[in-house]
Amino acid sequence: MSSAATIRNRAAWTPADLPASNQRFVHASGSPLESLDPATGELVARVRTSTQAEVDEAVGVAREAAKGRWRDDGALRGRVLYRYAQALRADIDRIAELLTREQGKKLFEARAEVMGAANHVEYYAGQARAVHGRAMALGPNVHGVTLREPVGVVAVITPWNWPLTLLTRSLAPALAAGNAVVAKPASLTSAVTVAALAPLADDPELPEGILGCVLGSGAVVGEALVRHPGVEMIAFTGESTTGIDVMKTAADRLKKVSLELGGKSPNVVFADAPMDKALDGAIAAAFSSTGQICTAGSRLVVERSIADEFLERLGERVDGLRVGDGLDPDTDVAPVVSRTQQRQILEYIELGRREGELVRGGEPLRGDAYASGYYVSPAVVRGLPSESRLIQEEIFGPVLAVQVFDDDEEAIALGNGTRFGLAAGLWTNNLQRAWRVGRELEAGTIWINTYNRFYSELEVGGVKESGVGRQQGVVGLEEFTEVKSLNFDFNPTLW
Ligand code: NDP
Repeated sequence: MSSAATIRNRAAWTPADLPASNQRFVHASGSPLESLDPATGELVARVRTSTQAEVDEAVGVAREAAKGRWRDDGALRGRVLYRYAQALRADIDRIAELLTREQGKKLFEARAEVMGAANHVEYYAGQARAVHGRAMALGPNVHGVTLREPVGVVAVITPWNWPLTLLTRSLAPALAAGNAVVAKPASLTSAVTVAALAPLADDPELPEGILGCVLGSGAVVGEALVRHPGVEMIAFTGESTTGIDVMKTAADRLKKVSLELGGKSPNVVFADAPMDKALDGAIAAAFSSTGQICTAGSRLVVERSIADEFLERLGERVDGLRVGDGLDPDTDVAPVVSRTQQRQILEYIELGRREGELVRGGEPLRGDAYASGYYVSPAVVRGLPSESRLIQEEIFGPVLAVQVFDDDEEAIALGNGTRFGLAAGLWTNNLQRAWRVGRELEAGTIWINTYNRFYSELEVGGVKESGVGRQQGVVGLEEFTEVKSLNFDFNPTLW
């Protein structure tokens, strides 16, 4: 924390009351829900939650809209999405500040998130006019044509950690493919989601009902949406256990699902790696976004011959990280999202102290400025047994568990030693090793000599308990379509 004065001098903030009366795309007039600022515990916004009747209403208007012009007019969809990307960029100051206040992340990261969201929308604005099938000759006068049709009404359910990029990663391809969307953001980030969706809802060419939003807890409103007979597809991003429940519920009506779930990603450093780059990469992988990234490199898997030196130098870098308010430009590690999350992370650190060696972190943060916010100092733990909960479970906080290996086979075995398979990092100057180990690691994304780099063009997703389906790229759009085959027979006689 650079100084307690930083918190006292925070600009005055008037809590927002949402939805505003003109935000008719938000179907919510029920009991209120409060968002608190993770840096201070103060009220940021109040949103109304959705009743069952309002979930029905949102799905009902979406169903009507899904049958209309939107479905077949790629040029219209492209124009609307392109203007939305521009609107997000134009409004970045306001949306990013609300994101930092509601979610806690550094303002720099919040701005990057708004830009990332705009990039996804812009990428799929281009794709909206290229939702094509194939044509083929199947014999004399027999022709086959495939169409990629929209699925219909898609429920997009999102978590709180990257609420805008994760929203647009599903919303934009779903809309580009011609679907109607009902969004259900995480309760903790409802206000910023409504603020970020408003410019899209305001577009004069967006048909009424193509975009809807419902608010409230996952167990009530989220579940009602997943169960709803009018919803054809669920695009869910969140924890693996919740995703498994969502898939079970969706199975009752064989609904299509896209699941982007949790991770416990290994970041594997070989002795031949460019060490300074790997050190920077390990810090960013574990501690950016305060460790609250599904793909966080939360397991450092390092070759024994360099482990001591690597950890000593890593520790020096951890000592230099400043924990503080996300609005303070000097902050490296912002607060975690909630008091509950803070308590859980501190329990994991305590467990790490008992089961292994706490190399860094875990000490209480002293000072008035830390008292009311949800701060955790970044922790590094080594010497843990492989069955430790710190190795096996997603902590979703600034806690790095270290594992040591002797050869490539052990690196692969440790890398694959959890139920997750979302992402992995490899640091090596040996191309053959990068290729071979990269092929053996069980994960949807492998970063080589980099980490947590995302491009709208490049597919991401999980294997094992990290997910079903892919997002981003061309495949990310195809997820939101159904293939219909038309078989034409113009032969003069029947068979
Ligand atoms: P949760 O699974 O708790 O919640 C995700 C969303 O689902 C929220 O909107 C939540 O609502 C809602 N929800 C909860 N229960 C149900 C239910 N029974 N039916 C329908 N919806 C429900 O995840 P978190 O919000 O805690 O997010 C963190 C998790 O997300 C981590 O595990 C992280 O790894 C994962 N994640 C995965 C990503 C990926 O791309 N693979 C990307 C980012 C995060 P509410 O919160 O309002 O209760």
